[in-house]
Amino acid sequence: MSSIQNIQDTPFWMPFTPNRAFKQHPRIVNAAKGCWLTTEDDQQVLDATAGLWCVNAGHGRQEIADAVHQQIMNLDFSSTFNFGHDIGFAYAERLATFAPDGMDHIFFGNSGSEAVDTALKIAMQYWQVQGKGEKKRFISRQKGYHGVNFGGVSVAGITNNFKNFGQWLMVDHMRHTLDLERNSFSRGLPAEGADMAEELAELIAFHGADTIAAVIVEPIAGAGGVILPPEGYLQRLREICTEHDVLLIFDEVITGWGRTGSAFAAIEFGVTPDLITSAKGITNATIPLSAVFVSNPIFETCMEMAPDGVEFFHGYTYSCHPVACAAGMAALDIYEEEGLLTRAKTDGPLGSYFENALHSLANLPQVIDVRNYGLVGAVELKPVDGKPGSLGPKALTQAWEKGVMIRGIGDAICMSPPLIINEQEIDKIVQTLQEIIPALYAD
Ligand code: PLP
Repeated sequence: MSSIQNIQDTPFWMPFTPNRAFKQHPRIVNAAKGCWLTTEDDQQVLDATAGLWCVNAGHGRQEIADAVHQQIMNLDFSSTFNFGHDIGFAYAERLATFAPDGMDHIFFGNSGSEAVDTALKIAMQYWQVQGKGEKKRFISRQKGYHGVNFGGVSVAGITNNFKNFGQWLMVDHMRHTLDLERNSFSRGLPAEGADMAEELAELIAFHGADTIAAVIVEPIAGAGGVILPPEGYLQRLREICTEHDVLLIFDEVITGWGRTGSAFAAIEFGVTPDLITSAKGITNATIPLSAVFVSNPIFETCMEMAPDGVEFFHGYTYSCHPVACAAGMAALDIYEEEGLLTRAKTDGPLGSYFENALHSLANLPQVIDVRNYGLVGAVELKPVDGKPGSLGPKALTQAWEKGVMIRGIGDAICMSPPLIINEQEIDKIVQTLQEIIPALYAD
């Protein structure tokens, strides 16, 4: 029984949740510190998801709380439409130092979904101001997740996320890069499959480069089930985009801020896109804020070629909210002081510990793949006959009952713990999975 008295009649319509089932077995988290969550009945649960790829510096950081408090007392809010504030300019300048070289401009929003829609609009605007408004098609990828607003849903590659809502942009999809036949049990980036990028050249030839604004991909697809790019694949996407004058957008909402062992996957993989979306870990998820990092030529074109007046008719009331900026500044302080942006390096001590620990699960006959990069990983389970995709949700419930929060996606168990996690905590995750995986097939 939940301590929430009227959970059956609650007004709260929960997002991405089977609401009816949840009410039968609620999972309530009421406090959090470090890597640990406290449930309503005072159980400690290890957060192997960092929220949803969010809380990279761990929960309950005093420094961020203090910065937020101070900011509210100093300047709680002032709009950035036609006015500015010091902290907004200072934060943008500092953020830009973390981005790949040549991406020195930032457009703020509040969520990853808003960052994605903003990036798609910047791409359209960039062609529009050059008199190439017919370049408005997007290419994305199967199993891609780009948030839930209409732009993001239009480019989405996860069927359930768009099937009831329509495709409001012209979009085509490349295949995803999960290839268990060639790459199962890869450590780090899979060796085989850079050739999958050639499909992009085929789609560009099919539609015509003069109709395509941009390609949008997650460097590592998260919500689609932790799908890694084969070695050389992202480089090849970049080459094809450059060759055909098509922009490349990396949706780094989950891969940013140390998840891969660098500030951005773009830096980790040595591939510079034209636009990067970022959110979640940008403020350690304490206050919602998102950002689109824009390459210099795109920004300059949008400024120089726009007619007089407002150059880009876009923005959110809370774009560059001062309190979110303060939270973001404090998060950056922590990331820098504690070396968190590189702590997850796949070949570093923690990244390799995580990799070895996850791959120890390969001993279970039910496990058909283990994949990992930095501090993100997935264990793919042999689907139950006639019930594909049933194991992830079951694993989530059973792991929770044993004190670990994981993410279940299809038949994959996905993990992205806070970057402050230690070896004992990683062991706890893996021991819990060792116990629950065979039991998932019990009925
Ligand atoms: N893009 C990616 C790659 C994501 O993983 C997410 C969320 O998980 C989003 C966009 C949407 O972010 P938000 O839920 O903050 O709107």
